[in-house]
Amino acid sequence: MTSFLVNAQRSLEDGRFEEAKKAIERGYALSPDHERVRDFYQQILLADGVKLSRKARDMRRDEVRAMVKRERPSYQDSPEVRTAFHLAVTSLDKVLAVDPTNAKALMLKAGVLDRMDRKGMREDVMRLFEKALEIHPGNDELLYARERIVRSCAQCGDSGVCPDCQGAGEVSALLFRSRCPSCNGAGICKRCGLF
Ligand SMILES: [Zn+2]
Ligand SMILES: [Zn+2]
Repeated sequence: MTSFLVNAQRSLEDGRFEEAKKAIERGYALSPDHERVRDFYQQILLADGVKLSRKARDMRRDEVRAMVKRERPSYQDSPEVRTAFHLAVTSLDKVLAVDPTNAKALMLKAGVLDRMDRKGMREDVMRLFEKALEIHPGNDELLYARERIVRSCAQCGDSGVCPDCQGAGEVSALLFRSRCPSCNGAGICKRCGLF
């Protein structure tokens, strides 16, 4: 109840995010109809979704970097990366369970699904955008994000790997190998941020 709300707010102010999350989840379970509890619960879980999705992406990037360069184009997510993405979706689904019209949650979820598996999830992603656009017709941010996601990446065709060096981060010119100028040596497509 409100004591949980106060605890959650205090924990967040002190930078203890996990404790804030635990407190507000408990508060929400006890009084789901309390408006401030419900608002704060959604706010924390949105932030959690963003945090977890960033973590999944960082893990994926580390895995790609740890691979032998020529094998990067065949990269598949490890079970750990998949779990991390699913946890991000779970947090956003909790927000949508409270308010199915929460446009921010719809958009963030679309973003996570897109990152997770652009080709496989495209239909689900589009459905989330349609739903968000029903709530906010003509919203520029939504229209722009949808436009970016609807087609495959013009640069890498959704492989996520830099097409100019095939993920090696280097290109040969004459007898020399030098840092790939398109990706700055990272081997990762700069345009879509899939990795
Ligand atoms: Zn790309
Ligand atoms: Zn490159």
